[in-house]
Amino acid sequence: MKAGGDVVSMAEDYYVILGISKNASEAEIKRAFRKMAMKYHPDRNADNPEAEEKFKQVKEAYDVLSDPQKRAAYDQFGHAGVQGGAAGGAGFSAESFSDIFGEVFEDLFGMGGNRRGRGRRPQRGADLRYNLEITLEEAVAGTEVQIQVPTLVTCDECNGSGARNGTKPSSCSLCHGQGVVRMQQGFFSVQQTCPQCQGSGLEIRNPCRKCHGQGRIQQTKTLSVKIPPGVDTGDRIRLAGEGEAGDKGAPAGDLYVQIRVKEHPIFTRDGSNLFCEVPISFTTAALGGELEVPTLDGKVVLKIPPETQTGALFRLRGKGVKPVRGGPQGDLICRVKLETPVRLTKEQIELLKQLDASLQGGGSHHSPQEHGWLDGVKQFFEKLKPGKANST
Ligand SMILES: [Zn+2]
Ligand SMILES: [Zn+2]
Repeated sequence: MKAGGDVVSMAEDYYVILGISKNASEAEIKRAFRKMAMKYHPDRNADNPEAEEKFKQVKEAYDVLSDPQKRAAYDQFGHAGVQGGAAGGAGFSAESFSDIFGEVFEDLFGMGGNRRGRGRRPQRGADLRYNLEITLEEAVAGTEVQIQVPTLVTCDECNGSGARNGTKPSSCSLCHGQGVVRMQQGFFSVQQTCPQCQGSGLEIRNPCRKCHGQGRIQQTKTLSVKIPPGVDTGDRIRLAGEGEAGDKGAPAGDLYVQIRVKEHPIFTRDGSNLFCEVPISFTTAALGGELEVPTLDGKVVLKIPPETQTGALFRLRGKGVKPVRGGPQGDLICRVKLETPVRLTKEQIELLKQLDASLQGGGSHHSPQEHGWLDGVKQFFEKLKPGKANST
């Protein structure tokens, strides 16, 4: 074959098209064909006219070279030896052509069964998705909710057959119950799904009054859904058989309940852990103390040690979430946030000034971080602008 995979002209040598030698055995021809056909098959090359053209050529080459008689004629006379076949003589027939393809493509793409047999089977009902929002408390503890799902259900009047009470669907008059019809396209005969019965092979002469022959009707179902404890946003619960009813007796689809957990005013969740931010006064932070913090199952006391800094994390073991897929219960992690006092009285301001003076007297002793930081800033400016560090 040509380098770069160019599309070859129609008159290109059949051996070249398949990339084989003139002495190739039947097995080699078949192998080469499978490889090329797989590569250029329209199912794998949607909207690619070049691949489509190449695919046709590969089919044509294979059809000739796989038939010893046609191959001999081609070897002797070239394209002239096998052309005009459609008019009769040594040409290839459309029938053998489609049979070759049926056989080869069934095992290449798994398109067997239905395709060449009785047409389309009644289709399974569609799967449905229901988006469900629940609170964090419900997600953690589990709950049961009622949901309303508009869907297609099997018609109770005809039990899904689509035929009026007391009648039965009969064989389709166009395809005689085969589900497929043969159509002539040029000199090819092509098998297609029957347009009259859409492949079911059945025809309903007296349609059911309730579903008008559809076998299914629109209805809003009320379902009770059990939400197991520990679910999280993105989890989904499958309710088998609660999707749309199937086509004429085919199985129903499934219903997927897609969980989304609403934001909580206090807690955020990361897997099995919960986080919350706890504001504390600067005196509590300095002196230590006890705080009541909320958990999903009541309040607990959190001990704040003296000299606690803002941002410090405190872990309350086992106060998180028990994951739905098993594993240990998570923790509640509290992040402490120091609150600066506001609306101070004159007296309080005076006290704070006294306190400040006292702290300043201790130098870096009482606030090592602040002093360390100030030293760092000073060095930074000295490096950045030599000689200008003290200008402001
Ligand atoms: Zn039909
Ligand atoms: Zn009905």
